[in-house]
Amino acid sequence: MSRILIAEDELRISSFIEKGLAAAGLATVTVRDGTDALDFALTGDFDLLLLDIGLPGIDGYEVLRSLRAQECTLPVIVLTARDSGEDVLASLGGGANDYMAMPFRFDELLARVRLRMTDAVRVTGAVPVIEASLEVTGLRLDLRTRRAAVGDRQVDLSAREFALAEEFLRNADQVLSREQLLSRVWGYDFDPGSNIVDVYVGYLRAKFGAARIETVRGMGYRLR
Ligand code: CA
Repeated sequence: MSRILIAEDELRISSFIEKGLAAAGLATVTVRDGTDALDFALTGDFDLLLLDIGLPGIDGYEVLRSLRAQECTLPVIVLTARDSGEDVLASLGGGANDYMAMPFRFDELLARVRLRMTDAVRVTGAVPVIEASLEVTGLRLDLRTRRAAVGDRQVDLSAREFALAEEFLRNADQVLSREQLLSRVWGYDFDPGSNIVDVYVGYLRAKFGAARIETVRGMGYRLR
C-alpha cells in the first residue's frame, strides 16, 4: 500500500489535501511539526512527502536538509507561499523534487503527486497504485493522457472540466454538493458564493449529454 506523508501545521490546508487525496484513492498520514515530519519520513513507510516550509519545531528546509544528509531518497514536494521565489530556489537546491505555491488548485497538486509516484515506481520497481482510467457506463476518462470519451467519441475537455468530470466519475450515483465540488476541484480559497460549479456542470452536460448529470434540487448534482 502506497502512502503519502503530509507535513502541514495548518488544519484547513492539511484537511483539504487529505480529503482530495483520499477521494483519489491515496492513503495519507499527517504530521504537524518538523520533528515528526523527519521521524516519519525516515521510517521508509512512505512513497512521497508533501512538506510545508513554515512548520513549528524545525522548519521545512531543515527537514529536507536532514533527510538528504541521511541519504533518504523519498520524493518531496514542497508547499510554499505564492510569489516567494527564494523559497522555491532554496527548496529545489535543498533536494526537493517539486514545489507547489499556495494557494493551489487541488487538480494541480494531484497531477504533481501522480507524477512523483510514477517516478518512485520507476526507481524502486514497486507495483504502481496509480489508476490508468475511470469508466462509468460508456463515459471514460484516461487519467494519464487526460482524454475523455463517450462511447467511441473523443471529447475535448479543459483541465478544469476534466477535474470536475473525474470527481463525478469517482462518485457515480452519489449526490455531490456545490461546496464539495468547489473545494475538491477549485480549491479551498474559492469564493463559496460563486456559481462556477453550475457553469461548469453546464459545459460537461453539453459535452457528455444533458441527461448524464442530474440536478438534485437543493442538494447538488449526481452522475448517472
Ligand atoms: Ca505552515
